[in-house]
Amino acid sequence: MITIGAFQELKNKFGQRFKDSPADKLTFSKDKWLKLKFIEKREKPFSHLADGVVEPAGTDEIQWLVQWAVKNNVPLIPRGGGSGVCGAAVPVNGGIVIDMSSLNRIWGINYADEYIWVESGIMGNQIEKALQVITPENFYLNYQYTCGHSPASLSISTPGGWIATRSAGQFSSIYGTIEDLVLAIEAVNEKGERELIKGDDLKRFFRMEGSSGIITKVKMRIFPVSPFRQFLAFRFDDSKWAMGIVKAVSLLMERHENTDPHCVVRLYDSLDAAVNGPRIRDRRTKKANLAERFLLKYPTFLNKIAAKLEKKGKIQPLLVVMIQPPLDFYRCTNEQLSNLMAEKAFQFKDIISSFGGTFVGSDLAEAWYNNRFKLTYENVERRFEKGIFVETFDTTVPLDCVLEVYTAVKNAVSGCAVVLAHLSHIINETCCIYFTFAGKGRNLQETELLYDKVCDKSARAAIDAGAFITHHHGIGLKNIGYARYAYGSEWFMETREFQSDIFNPKKL
Ligand SMILES: Cc1cc2nc3c(=O)[nH]c(=O)nc-3n(C[C@H](O)[C@H](O)[C@H](O)COP(=O)(O)OP(=O)(O)OC[C@H]3O[C@@H](n4cnc5c(N)ncnc54)[C@H](O)[C@@H]3O)c2cc1C
Repeated sequence: MITIGAFQELKNKFGQRFKDSPADKLTFSKDKWLKLKFIEKREKPFSHLADGVVEPAGTDEIQWLVQWAVKNNVPLIPRGGGSGVCGAAVPVNGGIVIDMSSLNRIWGINYADEYIWVESGIMGNQIEKALQVITPENFYLNYQYTCGHSPASLSISTPGGWIATRSAGQFSSIYGTIEDLVLAIEAVNEKGERELIKGDDLKRFFRMEGSSGIITKVKMRIFPVSPFRQFLAFRFDDSKWAMGIVKAVSLLMERHENTDPHCVVRLYDSLDAAVNGPRIRDRRTKKANLAERFLLKYPTFLNKIAAKLEKKGKIQPLLVVMIQPPLDFYRCTNEQLSNLMAEKAFQFKDIISSFGGTFVGSDLAEAWYNNRFKLTYENVERRFEKGIFVETFDTTVPLDCVLEVYTAVKNAVSGCAVVLAHLSHIINETCCIYFTFAGKGRNLQETELLYDKVCDKSARAAIDAGAFITHHHGIGLKNIGYARYAYGSEWFMETREFQSDIFNPKKL
């Protein structure tokens, strides 16, 4: 309970930047975890409601806020873009949500030492935009820069959220995950002090969901962007076969010399390739929408049809490959680069065809690249209003058990929901299998029960088959029970020592 006096103090300090209308409190108490939509529909009022929202203008105000929160014993829940999909930014026991959106400035770009300092609430696309501007400091360089982190949610997520969820961008096999990209953090600790965190200490913040402090500024690496890129796409006959050759694909991606190109690959099973995969033209029709609503009532039937269509070659798994020159490409001549990339493309064509893949040109891979930030969340919301749930599930899978995890999750869930999957983020002998489930009950209550069942069955099946939960979506309320099971209690004991009871409590 926040006392009237404490509330008044907050209002006096933040004025218009303190909000406590029911609409604001509801908006800032949810992220994009689908379960919250079910809860919102059946619970009035919503049970995980914040007591208020403040929008600090800078680090000084966050320091004041933390001291106020400690004095009054009020939880603080930092919130970046609110694009998390696991309920990590939900105020479980009330408290004040810190809307970080005004901490959106760029503090400096150092092209010589290749880093950028940004405030933690800036949206990712604004960072990329700043890195593409020609300034007196970089006009002599012939290329643009990137921070190398490109989640599909780039335009709706922030560095604070990336660090707190341990996010991974679509080019993680080139630049690494967010852990590889952050050089230093400025944060406010529970005493309200400003801290500069570097090196090994950074682990106090990765995947900690804001429970160890409020991140206020972030120093990130930047990289020159090569103007060259090469795209390849391959079709296969059978999804399981395609999943089974990932180890061979990973060997093709290995770099032995500094001049070796980097590769990004994505492998879609046949149903995911047909439904979510890259397209050269958007072929979705009204008939397809109607068929979807009808077929989702009979998921087993739809999964069987998909298997039959795959057997007849009507839908096929798809492997897309992007080849990019080494990060210090400027040391090579254009001719050297094009030879290196052509050689890598040749190796892919040669090896993948020996594993039964058919080269189908570059268009589909290019279509993936061009549409990589096209957000699909609006479709999820639209379908939810029509009584259909669409949920995703990201797993970290050692390359040795890709087929086991893929098969186990499909078998566990295909009796009650439609299951699609793609595989990406091949780094250090692991990858991410990203499942999408869709289902529909006869009414909202039944749909929610089905949703819970699918999430539970898939998580258990994945862990039993050797996967870790999660890959890049963070833990949050959605995964906390399974994460304990997957990581063991030691990880939680270790993280416990970094946490403060005041910051985003009752999460990890
Ligand atoms: C359509 C869509 C596509 C997506 N694609 C990807 C993808 O490709 N890769 C990927 O990794 N994720 C993806 N996500 C998930 C999501 O974008 C990431 O989890 C992202 O890192 C969340 O950032 P955010 O700023 O929105 O954080 P929020 O959702 O606001 O918060 C997430 C967590 O971070 C904490 N937090 C936020 N800011 C701070 C801060 N300043 N200090 C301390 N803690 C803080 C919050 O308390 C919370 O625990 C996607 C989501 C959607 C909806």
